[in-house]
Amino acid sequence: MYISTRGVKYRVTASKAILSGISPDGGLFVPEVFPEYSLVDIANLCDTDYKGRAKYILPAFLDDFTPDEIDYCVDQAYGKGKFPKEVAPIKAVTDKLWSLELWHGPTCAFKDMALQMLPHLMTVAMKKNNVDKKVLIVVATSGDTGKAALEGFKDVPDTKIITFFPEDGVSRVQKLQMTTQEGDNVQIYGVYGNFDTIQSAVKRTFCDETVVYAVRDAGYEFSSANSINWGRLVPQIIYYFSAYCDLVNNGFISIGEKIDFAVPTGNFGDILAGYYAKKMGLPINKLICASNANKILTDFFASGRYSFNREFQTTISPSMDILVSSNLERLIYDLSDKDYETVRTNFQLAGRHSTFKISKDIVAKINEHIISDYATDKETKQTIKRLYDEYGYLCDPHTAVAFSVYEKVGEKDVTTVVVSTADPFKFSFAVFSALSTEFVDNINEFQLIDKLGKLTHRKPPKQITGLIDKELRFKQKIAPAGVRNRIQAAVVPDNIV
Ligand SMILES: *Cc1c(COP(=O)(O)O)cnc(C)c1O
Repeated sequence: MYISTRGVKYRVTASKAILSGISPDGGLFVPEVFPEYSLVDIANLCDTDYKGRAKYILPAFLDDFTPDEIDYCVDQAYGKGKFPKEVAPIKAVTDKLWSLELWHGPTCAFKDMALQMLPHLMTVAMKKNNVDKKVLIVVATSGDTGKAALEGFKDVPDTKIITFFPEDGVSRVQKLQMTTQEGDNVQIYGVYGNFDTIQSAVKRTFCDETVVYAVRDAGYEFSSANSINWGRLVPQIIYYFSAYCDLVNNGFISIGEKIDFAVPTGNFGDILAGYYAKKMGLPINKLICASNANKILTDFFASGRYSFNREFQTTISPSMDILVSSNLERLIYDLSDKDYETVRTNFQLAGRHSTFKISKDIVAKINEHIISDYATDKETKQTIKRLYDEYGYLCDPHTAVAFSVYEKVGEKDVTTVVVSTADPFKFSFAVFSALSTEFVDNINEFQLIDKLGKLTHRKPPKQITGLIDKELRFKQKIAPAGVRNRIQAAVVPDNIV
């Protein structure tokens, strides 16, 4: 069963936790108990492929799903046409330093690992709970999440997805990725406003009774695809086990040997999944939490004070430009021995005063598991160049933040896996300008992708180069005030209010 991080009142099954997304008391759902794996279990995992590993791990968390239902979700998410045969390959930088590439899915970013699975978990959960409604997913996105969610929910029966992005706040490739989206159940709008404005407009609509009732009357229920949903977290645990098994299988570690993971961190979902893997018995020594200049987590782990009362920095690793790391709540809950009262007080304080402080005890416990530091844009670019020049390894700026922090604070005698979160071609401008001094401000993103490919003798992914030939399906640009009407119109077309 799943319980909230903020109290004992809500205790639900896995499928209900996934359908609700967030607990009604404002907390996040967590499993009451975690499965524990022995080295024998891990050895069994090593004998199978990624899908096999997923089918072994997921039932322990989704215990109201049948084996057939889990097989269905895994095959839909990681099957043919979605990912290559090796779903999450590890690549050697040196014998001791590896990169776990999580970006070989449909949108070239690690969010696919979870967002390819979430829609199927949701539709199965609906049937299981005899929900006769359909789901309306609403996404406010600053770029990557929107595309990954659209690709995940496209043509999934009984779902519709509507996505809003800042018209002037995403890259050309990101915009084309969304505006050329295929699928009969998708709608996409550019909005004249920044991400925060759009997010507020969406949140207001969720609380607008007129819209909520109209949506319900049309047979739909709102849901969200953001990373606090347990259904987005649980698929991420799998790849930590998978990377470990791959290292055992290729002989670079022996089973039982402890390794480190370095994780580029924003909302704390990715690294939290690593912490849960460790808790389940995966031999992990330390998790390296890598931030960019928005180093709120680095400061928090050093001082115990969380404070997002600070200036937001725009960096070359935009998917980590975050001040509120929602999933941190789950870590604090776990390491405070499920002290939900303190968690509730702290996060309510955070809501009111943008700051809270945890005890020295918990800080010490966090530091038993997590090493934390940050990298500036300059350091990130230097790392991209050095990795390429010295080892021939090309990585995107988010991944480079993690490599850079590993260089600063990593344990060099411990085998370390850097979690690589995006295809370098998705962030061509930053990558090219890290490698070359050539002036490229006056050429477009597709020309730049071509140049980067030639410079590094690599083929850019078809998902990106193919965009230029795709039909532009969504051209509408709206004001933030229009968000509410578009959401309602998505399911009640004749009744725009
Ligand atoms: C979302 C994202 C991250 C951060 O992951 P969190 O789970 O939010 O910590 C890092 N890199 C890329 C490319 C991302 O899209």
